[in-house]
Amino acid sequence: MKIAEVHIYQHDLPVKNGPYTMANAQVWALDTTLIKLVSDNGQVGWGEVCPVGPTYAEAHAKGARAALVEMAPGLIGVDVQPLTLHRRMDGLLNGHNYAKAGIDIAAHDLLGKHLGVPVCDLLGGATTDKVPSYYATGVGAPDDIARLASEKLAEGYPRLQIKVGGRPVELDIETIRKVWQAIKGSGMRLAVDGNRGWTTRDALRVSRECPEIPFIMEQPCNTVEDLQKIRPQVTHGIYMDENSISLNTVISAAGTGLVDGFGMKVTRIGGLHPMRAFRDVCEARNLPHTCDDSWGGDIIAAACTHIGATVRPELLEGVWLAAPYIEENYDPENGIRITGGHIDLPTGPGLGIIPDESRFGAPVASF
Ligand SMILES: [Mg+2]
Repeated sequence: MKIAEVHIYQHDLPVKNGPYTMANAQVWALDTTLIKLVSDNGQVGWGEVCPVGPTYAEAHAKGARAALVEMAPGLIGVDVQPLTLHRRMDGLLNGHNYAKAGIDIAAHDLLGKHLGVPVCDLLGGATTDKVPSYYATGVGAPDDIARLASEKLAEGYPRLQIKVGGRPVELDIETIRKVWQAIKGSGMRLAVDGNRGWTTRDALRVSRECPEIPFIMEQPCNTVEDLQKIRPQVTHGIYMDENSISLNTVISAAGTGLVDGFGMKVTRIGGLHPMRAFRDVCEARNLPHTCDDSWGGDIIAAACTHIGATVRPELLEGVWLAAPYIEENYDPENGIRITGGHIDLPTGPGLGIIPDESRFGAPVASF
């Protein structure tokens, strides 16, 4: 089965009650890119890539579409096999993993539909039909975030991630303490995500002043070198998120013991094929991790849920979805939703999502 057509669509996803605030970015609406692959036997697969604005990662929406347009002509006639496609894409364009992820996800969807199996079966097999999610707050006032923490605990979320950074660190410390008061003893796990926004000085101070609160620090500072600097001095676990841009950086971070786990984005690492290698590296080192993406709609949400369902359960820190923060499902019937802090694994073949493509309008490019 070979790729016969590639279609690229642009679509806006409005953020509910926006903006969503992080240390270095505010999100009002999401510019997402959909990819439709059509095979020579008439099967269809969908992929998606949706950077959160231009400053969260080394990725932006227009860059994704430019990279896809660059690669697409060279993908016509290529076998719909993830490894084959990745080698081909690497031969057409250096880097730009996030754009390649859109093709990778669509290829998994297409292959699954062709074989009549869900994508999780292509990734080694699911261990569960319901994966845990976690709730991520924005950066906010300590009392507001503590109130939100109580609400999300009551809804059934097993884990909470609070956003910090981009403001006086005293406010971050107050937020951490108030949130812990709200969830202490409940079993809810806590991640404190700096989104690269703290200096090493801030991270050291937070760890020193909150020794009794068992949170992990997610990507507290900007660079790998910053993490290396604070690593021997903090008592809290460190997870890498934004710095883990490729399998290569993951292998180094896991192999040198730099981090205790990862926040991992499916599109950042290049799609589901590299994601399964990432999952296996983490399992070999007993490192917990998330299976997320940086926003997007039902297609990305389904991809994250399928890979999340294949992770050894005690190592899965959850599948974060943009679903609670956006207005729309592409597939009104089977769209991915979070219920009681958990996500049902889609049951249909491929990703298990049939998007209503009339929502996307005409393609911005077709090959
Ligand atoms: Mg993060």
